Amino acid sequence: MDFNLTEEQEMIRTQVRELADTFDMEYWRDCDRNHEYPHEYLKTFAEAGWLGIAIPEAYGGAGLDIFEACLLLEEICASGAGTTGASPVHFAIFPPMPVIKYGTEEQKQRFLPGVASGELKVGFGVTEPDAGTDTTRISTYAEKVGDEYIITGQKVWSTNIKHAQRTLLLARTTPYEQVDKKTLGMSLFMLDLESEGIERSEIEKLGRHAVDSNILTLDHVRVPAYDLIGEEGQGFYHLLAGLNSERLLIAAEAVGIGRAAIDIGVKYANERVVFNRPIGMNQGLQFPLADAHSKLIAAQLLVYKGATMFDQGQSCGAEANMAKLRAAEAGFEACDVALQVHGGMGYASEYHIERLWREIRLYKLAPVSQEMALSYIGQHVLGLPKSY
Ligand SMILES: Cc1cc2nc3c(=O)[nH]c(=O)nc-3n(C[C@H](O)[C@H](O)[C@H](O)COP(=O)(O)OP(=O)(O)OC[C@H]3O[C@@H](n4cnc5c(N)ncnc54)[C@H](O)[C@@H]3O)c2cc1C
Repeated sequence: MDFNLTEEQEMIRTQVRELADTFDMEYWRDCDRNHEYPHEYLKTFAEAGWLGIAIPEAYGGAGLDIFEACLLLEEICASGAGTTGASPVHFAIFPPMPVIKYGTEEQKQRFLPGVASGELKVGFGVTEPDAGTDTTRISTYAEKVGDEYIITGQKVWSTNIKHAQRTLLLARTTPYEQVDKKTLGMSLFMLDLESEGIERSEIEKLGRHAVDSNILTLDHVRVPAYDLIGEEGQGFYHLLAGLNSERLLIAAEAVGIGRAAIDIGVKYANERVVFNRPIGMNQGLQFPLADAHSKLIAAQLLVYKGATMFDQGQSCGAEANMAKLRAAEAGFEACDVALQVHGGMGYASEYHIERLWREIRLYKLAPVSQEMALSYIGQHVLGLPKSY
């Protein structure tokens, strides 16, 4: 067991941090305040080659593993960028995964170089108004007519699609009632968001205002069959192949956001003087900061273990779910403690911690809720009966 990063991994961490630090906290606050997508930041990261970190070299990427992608996102978040900075990069890593794994050579050539260069932005559409946690209940339907599919339905929370040209979309190609197994009969498409019959409307939300989440309505949208990714009817399984890695990426982001919060909290605790001494002298503040820090480091170890296993091709469902569960808790606790340390000023946007606090809350809900991560552990690790 070796707990040291390799030289290359250390270099990734340093280089990412240096680049991320060229965008200060005011930049992120303004993006959030003005609901402005961080185009300049994304362009900088694309030009430096980071968007293509997990895309094979043959398609313009760096061909690195999920471990390195976790380091990238953790370090972006540790710089204070929060989900505002993480999500646009995350969307260049996760939705393209089924294309890398199951796409045809033509699809890889058509989509991946654009994602790596930042020219092609992609969204992800699985959740529906009546089907979130229970994905098998999606009702968006793609009917095969000749050499195209006609898709009708509605997605909710589709993130990043205001600025994206494509979204990875899961639709039923066989009705729920007609499949032998409920996870069959769903298919993945790289939907062209410029197609006729598409409407997008943005959802007002608690945080990450710069990165949109939307209701996506599809009314008889014609999708060429060559935009089907992988095998018809196997879309759920194609997605599953990438879900553990997405959980690990999210967990890495949560650890990074927590680290940024602790840095901000410690700085304030050292500087702020009340009763003639820095407030950090009070164990009532020092202990929660130390406790939150130790939980972040524990979560980070789970992320690194899960990512290592994923990259080695081992099954890592338990580690990915535990990493996501622990990192979302630890990240939230770190932000909450750091906000508390600031007293009333924790509530003021000037000190930035309120933005991180709003943003980190998301990771207890999405992309998979804490309850579903616990269900996985209960069933698959502890051997308890399936609870849903
Ligand atoms: C900001 C944001 C961005 C998002 N981006 C995307 C995106 O890009 N693409 C996309 O497809 N989706 C996206 N989502 C959706 C997200 O993945 C879902 O919200 C999440 O999976 C939960 O589904 P739901 O909201 O339908 O909750 P529901 O399924 O309605 O569940 C409600 C609550 O009940 C709990 N629950 C349900 N069943 C059980 C059970 N058996 N045991 C215990 N608890 C249970 C859940 O854990 C949850 O807390 C996003 C969500 C948000 C908030």
